[in-house]
Amino acid sequence: QEEYIRKPEWLKTKINTNKSYNGLKKLMREKKLNTVCEEARCPNIHECWSERKTATFMILGDTCTRGCRFCAVKTGLPNELDWGEPQRVAESVGIMGLKHAVVTAVARDDLNDGGAAVFAETVRAIRRENPGGTIEILPSDMKGDYESLHTLMDSEPDIFNHNIETVRRLTKKVRARAMYDRSLQLLKRVKEIAPNTPTKSSIMVGLGETKEEIIEAMDDLLAHNVDIMTIGQYLQPTKKHLKVERYYHPDEFAELKEIALKKGFKHCESGPLVRSSYHADGQVSQTSAQ
Ligand code: SF4
Ligand code: SF4
Repeated sequence: QEEYIRKPEWLKTKINTNKSYNGLKKLMREKKLNTVCEEARCPNIHECWSERKTATFMILGDTCTRGCRFCAVKTGLPNELDWGEPQRVAESVGIMGLKHAVVTAVARDDLNDGGAAVFAETVRAIRRENPGGTIEILPSDMKGDYESLHTLMDSEPDIFNHNIETVRRLTKKVRARAMYDRSLQLLKRVKEIAPNTPTKSSIMVGLGETKEEIIEAMDDLLAHNVDIMTIGQYLQPTKKHLKVERYYHPDEFAELKEIALKKGFKHCESGPLVRSSYHADGQVSQTSAQ
């Protein structure tokens, strides 16, 4: 019998479901779209969808070719590539009146371009439908294929986000099919392609890392010219996933944020419920102005 530590008070949130939220959920089903907000049962969904006008779409199907041990997305044989998806995402962004749309995708290691062409088309379609809004992309590492990265960057996203997810030592355990250095290189390459596009990366804490290792991850990200860092509490999606080793106190998150900003990140979100796309709406102006 495995032992579980109790969830602290500050993580017990209720999902606020009002009428507009239910309407948006219906819209997602009608358009056959997946959002991380729903898939990950994100506690910020009401705030993001209704107040901040942000949402994270997960494209290229609902099935991932990888199986990271923290992630609730199902693994298996991927869906057929759907060229209608970019337009449906764009229409939903318009209907939802989003100010900031985040587009992520399952890893499509089965495709030569990792899905980059559909991904880039999604960014373009959103731009056409919603010219005033900002777009953040959060792709997989595309197995380090720089041609695919160029395809993606040609669509000119406002923020490029790619998560290292955890510290170097735990990468193998947490996301076995990814590589810490490959992710760092990808982030660095984006800055070389588009020096004015803010780059961003995120880690989850509570997987057994030490404070020194978190600080090392900050240094690694800065050494690869990453502008924005987000830090949030890992929560176990099901019993089959990795256990939470520790819950960090909000004060510890505040301290990590202070360290990150002192070290030179232009922006840092750090808190128990912070997710990679949390409060992302303000990050474009905050970083590109500098
Ligand atoms: Fe969606 Fe991200 Fe907001 Fe969560 S934090 S509701 S995943 S946009
Ligand atoms: Fe989840 Fe992304 Fe890992 Fe796939 S690659 S299992 S979607 S975290």
